[in-house]
Amino acid sequence: MSLPKSVHVVSHPLVQHKLTKMRDRQTSSTNFRRLLREMGLLLGYDATRDLPLVETGIETPIAAMKAPLLDGKKLVVVPILRAGLGLAEGIIDLVPLARMGHVGLYRDPRTLQAVEYYFKIPQDISDRDVIVCDPMLATAHSAIAAVDRLKESGAKRIKFICVLGSVQGANAFAEVHPDVPVFTAAVDAELNDHGYIVPGLGDAGDRLFGTK
Ligand code: URA
Repeated sequence: MSLPKSVHVVSHPLVQHKLTKMRDRQTSSTNFRRLLREMGLLLGYDATRDLPLVETGIETPIAAMKAPLLDGKKLVVVPILRAGLGLAEGIIDLVPLARMGHVGLYRDPRTLQAVEYYFKIPQDISDRDVIVCDPMLATAHSAIAAVDRLKESGAKRIKFICVLGSVQGANAFAEVHPDVPVFTAAVDAELNDHGYIVPGLGDAGDRLFGTK
């Protein structure tokens, strides 16, 4: 399967194991929520590899030393509502000082297009690294719309984290936003007529919140 250069599949065994557990229809909502959070941690770890560091003077109990700390303004985590919230929890565990924005989008079931109902982000977004997250990159309509809005609002350095993509969604996203790296646990080959990923893991929001 050939994927765009900007799409990174995280092959770490823990990520692959947790993805299989998430795909399994027998996995309870409680466990799905925990796994999604852990995915946020592991995928977030990979996506933050290139954050800039600055040498800072500190004193250990033994001696003074120069040691690295994250440089610049705190990053912003932007979940796409509602399933993105579960993934964002893990990313925030990793970077507790991060700010948060929220993008509310629902899929029109007829056209599968993204319709925005909420958008709130920190004002100085142009000075910050931004991580957008949504467990599923299916048609990519929501991801493209969210990143469009963030760029219109001034965001310059954006990454996208999802648990599972489709080939169609990964290509569509990379075509519109080639400058936005995507971090995912896997990319499945197909989408069904309702825009669901096959074999996928079902409706991530329903599984996360136990609404079905
Ligand atoms: N959203 C989901 O929750 N699951 C899919 O398979 C596609 C979009």
